[in-house]
Amino acid sequence: EISVCWLRRDLRLEDHAALYAALKSPYPVLLLFIFDRNILDQLSDREDARVTFIHQTLQNIQSRLTTYGSSLLIKYGTPETCWTEVLNSYTVKAVFTNHDYEPYAQERDAALAEYLASEQIEFKTFKDQVIFEKAEVVKADGKPYTVFTPYFKQWKQKLKDFYLKSYPVDKYLKNLFKTDQLSFPSLKDIGFNGSKQKFPALQLENKLDAYEEKRDFPAEDATTRIGVHLRFGTISIRRAARQALEENADKWLSELAWRDFYMMILWHFPRIVTTAFKPAYDRIKWRNDEADFKAWCAGATGYPLVDAGMRQLNETGYMHNRVRMVVASFLTKHLLIDWRWGEAYFAEKLLDYEMASNVGGWQWSCGCGNDAAPYFRVFNPELQTKKFDPHYAYINKWVPEYQQKKHVKPIVDHAFARERILKVFKAALNE
Ligand code: FAD
Repeated sequence: EISVCWLRRDLRLEDHAALYAALKSPYPVLLLFIFDRNILDQLSDREDARVTFIHQTLQNIQSRLTTYGSSLLIKYGTPETCWTEVLNSYTVKAVFTNHDYEPYAQERDAALAEYLASEQIEFKTFKDQVIFEKAEVVKADGKPYTVFTPYFKQWKQKLKDFYLKSYPVDKYLKNLFKTDQLSFPSLKDIGFNGSKQKFPALQLENKLDAYEEKRDFPAEDATTRIGVHLRFGTISIRRAARQALEENADKWLSELAWRDFYMMILWHFPRIVTTAFKPAYDRIKWRNDEADFKAWCAGATGYPLVDAGMRQLNETGYMHNRVRMVVASFLTKHLLIDWRWGEAYFAEKLLDYEMASNVGGWQWSCGCGNDAAPYFRVFNPELQTKKFDPHYAYINKWVPEYQQKKHVKPIVDHAFARERILKVFKAALNE
């Protein structure tokens, strides 16, 4: 008789809500990870760096479990078939897992809940990946906030040490299920090859001091690069927030709150994955020119900052936040290409890809999302460059041809594009 703790996007053995609760259950705990074919089969790149990241992280977890005489159980398939196998192989008394707010995950977990209930197996789920979830921070009338500033005000008021306490998993690891090492599939076994991508180190020390002052300058290495670790849970959000409070890093704390905010929005409004938060924006007549889209993807628009950003993304799986805003605004407003195309491209490339933040960031940049600003705010890429990369330090790094002062003809003239977008947006929104 065992308890199973199902790891998904919380790949660590520290400060882990579901694992802590599982280890305190009356049964020894087996850790399960499923390489989910519903997700993996949709990835177009067989060298997807995120799959390698997950695989490496699981290997680290496995070697730690070995020291406790335990092992990960790793499955490959759809959750449905994998769970049937698990329940056929073990006498499972209870299942523990952490909440996941994405629409697919919600459906998957609801189906599992039903299945486990029919087998009289307890199913317990926990808040772990955010500080406040679902309806924990809402307006006085119980409705969700839809813009960030008032949400953040309440989020911050509510933030007490209690919510940031670490779950002391360490003390209970002796309650892991004892077993010989179970088979560990290679990347090949699950249809992938190893990626050569470098992954950012998990390091917050010495990062938060100058964050507020330098975070907007893409040439500076001034942000934490913690995104991929929050995405896969190799750090707990509570630990990150505690560090922010210890260092009085208010601005950085507010970025963590943006992450909570977008997850809360996605949970309340799952439709935003495919439709604009502000529905009128779905009337926009996008040009959706394939050649323009290709040029944008390749970093060949002739706008230095846009091209630098896209090349950074293509080469490293990362793009600086300021530049994400610039390229997203450029795609939607200068090229009149549907934000969903850009969102999908980022989803394919970003190591720190997070559905809630990516959809949120794209809709915000396009003007159709959770933002109070009017649609006629159109970033001027040249002014953005003057402000945030005045010496071309970032641009020169990623697009060396601009260094040689080679003239690249812009794909579209800024003044023309601005006029065009204002007309098209106005027509759609005044209908
Ligand atoms: P830091 O600046 O050090 O911030 C720390 C953490 O706070 C980040 O890792 C992230 O988890 C969170 N955070 C920071 N800014 C935001 C924000 N605006 N919204 C939500 N969370 C934030 N972030 C993602 O994590 N995944 C995405 O897929 C993603 N797509 C984006 C798409 C667009 C068009 C835009 C404009 C922004 C997007 N962001 C996304 C937000 C932001 O750009 C990244 O979180 C940030 O650049 C990651 O770098 P960092 O880890 O060094 O962040």
